[in-house]
Amino acid sequence: MSAGLPPSIVALREELASGLAALDIELSPPHGDALLGFIDLLIRWNRAYNLTGTSDPREILQRHLLDSLSILPFLQGDRVLDIGTGAGLPGVPLAICCPEREFHLLDSNGKKMRFLFEVKTRLRLSNLVLIHGRAEDYRYEQGFDTVLSRAVASLGDLVRLSAPLLGPTGCMLAMKGKLAASELAEVEPPYTVRSVQTLQVPGANAVRQIVCIDHDTPQDGHNP
Ligand code: SAM
Repeated sequence: MSAGLPPSIVALREELASGLAALDIELSPPHGDALLGFIDLLIRWNRAYNLTGTSDPREILQRHLLDSLSILPFLQGDRVLDIGTGAGLPGVPLAICCPEREFHLLDSNGKKMRFLFEVKTRLRLSNLVLIHGRAEDYRYEQGFDTVLSRAVASLGDLVRLSAPLLGPTGCMLAMKGKLAASELAEVEPPYTVRSVQTLQVPGANAVRQIVCIDHDTPQDGHNP
């Protein structure tokens, strides 16, 4: 893969390696190539689709990839849903780094889904499941172990969207900037805010937080 990448992307290899080391993530060289390949595709498709707001490779690495990967220790279980994934954030970097887990990426925007189909095909990500539609209309009988989202909705709306999709012992993860107490108060029983933690994203200046929300008491049944 790296053989076909432009020099501006290949030049990120060391910065990627040190960012991953800071996050305590060990990656095989092919997975590192896939992360660089994802940055390359984002930049190529940005021209037509404006996916990330920036086409600067270093900014994409730091603001989007490393930010996405900083939540890896919070993932739970084998089946993960990314609601409002957009260009695949945080779902694609996580899927590259966790090939043993299945990542379902949901978005209502058709252009972003076309981009993600290209990403899945080019990077051969067999653990990606792409779902074009609105979260309100989507149902998944088994329930997900983790439902996550980044820059999509307020906590209250996120709980409403995620609750029907969550397995009995699953958790919701919301990636946020600095949270206001009023937003935390939007989470109501039977759901509860388990923790709010500040993420350490290499090179980031802005405050990044992750909110973990789960069911007060696991519902009847089990989550295989
Ligand atoms: N998570 C990505 C990121 O961090 O770059 C994209 C964030 S973008 C601001 C919000 C995305 O959520 C958009 O792509 C939009 O189409 C999608 N979205 C918003 N509400 C949605 C819903 N109810 N169901 C599915 N997708 C939704």
